[in-house]
Amino acid sequence: MGLARGRFVVDTHVHGQRHAFKLKERAVDSEFNELVDGMPHVEVYSNEGRLLYDMDRYQVDVVVLLPAFAMTNELNAKMVKEHPERFCAMCSDVKTQIRAKNGVEPWDIKNAVKELDDALATGCFVGIGEGMPRDNSPKYKRISWDERHDQICQIMELAKKYKVAVTWHCGFPAGYAGGSDMARMQGHQEEDWSNPLLAHEIAADYPDVPIILEHAGIEGSGYRTDVYEQCLTVARSHHNIYLETGQWWAELYAKPLIDPNIGCERLVWGTDWGAASSPQSWMPGQVPETFCNQDINAGLPAHQIDIFGWSLRELGKLNIPQDDLNLILGGNACRMLGIKTPFTRMFKEYIKK
Ligand SMILES: [Zn+2]
Repeated sequence: MGLARGRFVVDTHVHGQRHAFKLKERAVDSEFNELVDGMPHVEVYSNEGRLLYDMDRYQVDVVVLLPAFAMTNELNAKMVKEHPERFCAMCSDVKTQIRAKNGVEPWDIKNAVKELDDALATGCFVGIGEGMPRDNSPKYKRISWDERHDQICQIMELAKKYKVAVTWHCGFPAGYAGGSDMARMQGHQEEDWSNPLLAHEIAADYPDVPIILEHAGIEGSGYRTDVYEQCLTVARSHHNIYLETGQWWAELYAKPLIDPNIGCERLVWGTDWGAASSPQSWMPGQVPETFCNQDINAGLPAHQIDIFGWSLRELGKLNIPQDDLNLILGGNACRMLGIKTPFTRMFKEYIKK
């Protein structure tokens, strides 16, 4: 047992920015900080030093940067421009969400689509994420699936137009502040974050748009596997559904790998590096023995969680062909997101009879 290695490794889910608290009077020196008027003591900045260090340490070639929690598209685009061989990025409706959070303007799908359209038109982004843009503001009111379906279709139309992938978030952190945010969604079957089964309809209607089920049901959520099972159900029915596996413990890979309707071609490695969802807990003698978990007794971590190391050790337990492992670790992501590799023919492909 050791660390999984691949000939070209891509992490599809990384947050390369971090938040810092700063003095209020210094917080109006950028467009972004004017936008975050409601939380003027917080600033985001590039965490690329630590990220590149970890990537080198664990031989991760490329990571896909995702905005979340007010991390900006602009800063991700800048990081991609500075390190085009190590970073690519997805975009989200960051400003639309911040305006809604600050009470400037209610969240609106038209504004979100406009912001995404402008970002994708720059050619800097390979997809839409993290998650399907949605009203995340305190004024958020639950809407019917019909209304949400209409919003998601507008986002899918944009993905189709730009030929990019979309992400569908389906995992629930167990504790921290996420507990309260997630609690209002959990168990509500009309919520796409809560119910990956809703992706069936979207995947069928947009067969050419790759949909990554982020976390595939396992995200700092302890050892619950019910959402994971739902994700497998969706993946079994559609060729354009991919399962993001970075927080899976080793045993969770078995079923999708041998399922004739899923297989290694539909798994992509993505860890959530840089987010608070990945501290690991230990339950000796249990399955899983270690798992990503928000330990509410330990509290918020002040250190950079080492998710690459844990995740690659879990993958390292699998005794599968190296070509299959190479697809999970990077090949599928390269094909789906158009990530360049140093050579062609690096990933499993057989001449069709
Ligand atoms: Zn994330």
